[in-house]
Amino acid sequence: MKIDSLKTLLEEELKDIYSAEKQLLKALPKMAKNVASEELKAALEEHIEVTQGQVERLEEVFELLGKPAKAKTCKAMQGLVEEASEIMEEDAEDAVLDAAIIGAAQKVEHYEIASYGTARTWARLCGEEEAADLLQETLDEEGEADKRLTYLAERFVNQEAEAENGSSNGSGKSSGSKKSSGKSGGSKARGR
Ligand code: FE
Ligand code: FE
Ligand code: FE
Ligand code: ZN
Repeated sequence: MKIDSLKTLLEEELKDIYSAEKQLLKALPKMAKNVASEELKAALEEHIEVTQGQVERLEEVFELLGKPAKAKTCKAMQGLVEEASEIMEEDAEDAVLDAAIIGAAQKVEHYEIASYGTARTWARLCGEEEAADLLQETLDEEGEADKRLTYLAERFVNQEAEAENGSSNGSGKSSGSKKSSGKSGGSKARGR
């Protein structure tokens, strides 16, 4: 097809994003199922709900532009989802797999942030204010999801560091206070 205007370009981008969100809607439950951390699971499950809303919001955007809601396979999201699946097939220690899944999820969020930021700007330039506002709403949600993942990732790193410091003598869950009870050989696999 001929992309003869910014408006056409916007419509094509929206088809790509629509596909991306739908792919993600299918991939997120599997990711949520594979994580050990309850907090991370909750964050991913909540993002399934949010993503469902984003799909509906995109349908509104198509309507505002007078176009049918159509998806055109987003190959980037296909790749991101594929990489997430690959890592989930590896035999990894719980916390490490959680870290990997956070990384995969953040790549997805960053891709979405770039896409929505672009589409929002194009919509504004085309004078499609209402559509631009809707795209901005989703952009904000993706930003929040990304921040939450960063927060969880940084906490995991801290937990790992703490495990390295030796909580290996059966003293149960750490209370959050620093203990330095000498050297330990390495971290034990954590229970759930
Ligand atoms: Fe999304
Ligand atoms: Fe794409
Ligand atoms: Fe890659
Ligand atoms: Zn997202």
